[in-house]
Parts: sequence; structure tokens; C-alpha cells
Amino acid sequence: MLDAPSPRCVICPRQLLDHETGRFICLPCEHRIDQDLRKLAGPAGLYARLCLRIQPGRGSDGPAVSGTPGRAMPCNEAVLTMTANGGLVSTLETWVEDWATYGLARRGAGGRLQHRVDTAIATLRLNLTRAASRHPALKDFNQEIGSAVRAAERLITGERAPRRVPVVCGCGYVLKVTLDTDDCSCPGCSTEYRHAELMSLPIAERSAAA
Ligand SMILES: [Zn+2]
Ligand SMILES: [Zn+2]
Repeated sequence: MLDAPSPRCVICPRQLLDHETGRFICLPCEHRIDQDLRKLAGPAGLYARLCLRIQPGRGSDGPAVSGTPGRAMPCNEAVLTMTANGGLVSTLETWVEDWATYGLARRGAGGRLQHRVDTAIATLRLNLTRAASRHPALKDFNQEIGSAVRAAERLITGERAPRRVPVVCGCGYVLKVTLDTDDCSCPGCSTEYRHAELMSLPIAERSAAA
């Protein structure tokens, strides 16, 4: 009699190995998430570097867009959105709240935005290994953290958002994907696609892409 196939990582297609039994995600995926969190934190992290692109508002704690509106850098608004209260810090703290309900994170005590970012990342990193076998929504967590890192990197390097390519599902639905798109399911027919499968779908005609 054949053994049941071992479960797969909920993030990548890898089958979990013996030493990964009981986990939702594989060790390489855990390592990648940890790296992403690390990239965002600290005085040399992506968040701090984004904040440097904005002059502190006079007398206020929050960041403000530098210069007059007409002369503002084109990316300033996106930088502001990400660095302000409600941006990255809220994404992280929302996950801290969520993980705390599983006993997997400790809520921070507030403070300045950079401190709140660092505190949230510290508790998430500290508990990531335990979360790997206890938290059911690591796929969403990975996606949100990963896209925050990529967005921050793009803002810092001034790179534009990746071009979205329209590809056609077997059911005729046009999916807009980028090279960064992880797996997704077709809204038309619910087919689940892995990244590599998305990349091999036929590209939609220009008229369909509009
Ligand atoms: Zn994995
Ligand atoms: Zn479809």
C-alpha cells in the first residue's frame, strides 16, 4: 500500500520533507520570509531608507512631503503612503495583532513609527519558526510582506512597477500577471495556477488586453 503523498508547502510547490513534518511551509520559504522582514527593519533597512526620502514635517512627528507640491518628486506620494501611519507600519501591526491571537506575537507599546516598525518585525521574526507550524495564513503573510519589500525597493531605486502582462486562461478569462506574481487562481473558472504555469499561458491579443 502506498503512503499518502506528503503535504506541500502552502507557499511554494515543494513537498515537505521528513524534518518539516507538521509545518505549513518549507524551511526555504521560512528563510525567505525572514530575509524579507530583515530587509525592512532597522536604521539601514528599507523603511528607514524610504523615510530619508521625505523631510520631517516642522515640529511634527509624522513625515511630510518635502518641497512645494509642484516640485515634489513624482514618487513622493507613494513613499509617503508607505511610510506614514497606515502604511507599512499598519500592515505589520495588523499581522502582529493577528499572530498575537495565536500566541505568536507580542503587541508593541507604540512610539515613533520607525520604532513601531522595528518592534513589529522583531516579534514576527522571533515567532516565525513557531508560526511555520501553527499559523494557517502564512501564504497571505508571505505575499503581503514580499510585495511590501518589492514596492519599497522599487521606490528606492526609482524603478517602475513591473509591467502587467495579460495572459489567457483556458476558460478565456484574461489574467494580468507580472514576473512577480506568485500562484493565483483564475476568477473565471477557479483553476489554480502556479507561477511557472502562469508564465506559460498564451499572451492575450492587444485588443483583449485593453
Ligand atoms: Zn516553500
Ligand atoms: Zn479560467
